[in-house]
Amino acid sequence: MSDLRNSPLLDAQIRRLMIPAERVACVQFNNSLDHALLILIKSGYSAIPVLDEKSTTVQGTISKTLILDSILGLERIEVEQLRDKTVAEVMDEKVPRIKESSPFFKALELSINRPFLCVEGEDGNFLGILTRKAILALIYQHLRN
Ligand code: AMP
Repeated sequence: MSDLRNSPLLDAQIRRLMIPAERVACVQFNNSLDHALLILIKSGYSAIPVLDEKSTTVQGTISKTLILDSILGLERIEVEQLRDKTVAEVMDEKVPRIKESSPFFKALELSINRPFLCVEGEDGNFLGILTRKAILALIYQHLRN
């Protein structure tokens, strides 16, 4: 462990590891659930970030499970609600965030419980996401070498 503490691995920059915002599938908080479900299905991801109407800041995350739970009636799935409800009503507001300037160790710690973290600039703007997969791949590469 002491070897790892002094390792250049911990100097890894979050910005270099992240998927940039323009390649991240996102929705806006005022979108309908209908639209969000379409994006989730088309992208193949189970959860994606929710942004504000200008797509500059992260407001939450939305998942297929949250959407389906929200339209579950007593006896049937109320599909018609997909058009009436907005992402803001259903999203998880506890966003796993990290600053691009944060140490790699912080990203490693936060990713234990999350498949991805939202990366923000110093001004709070959304820059992209950092996946647990990218973190693990870097650690694997490092240990292998
Ligand atoms: P992965 O490590 O590629 O399996 O990604 C882990 C999680 O991060 C996925 O299940 C998604 O929730 C999210 N994710 C990964 N890549 C993207 C992307 N390009 N756009 C939106 N969400 C993503």
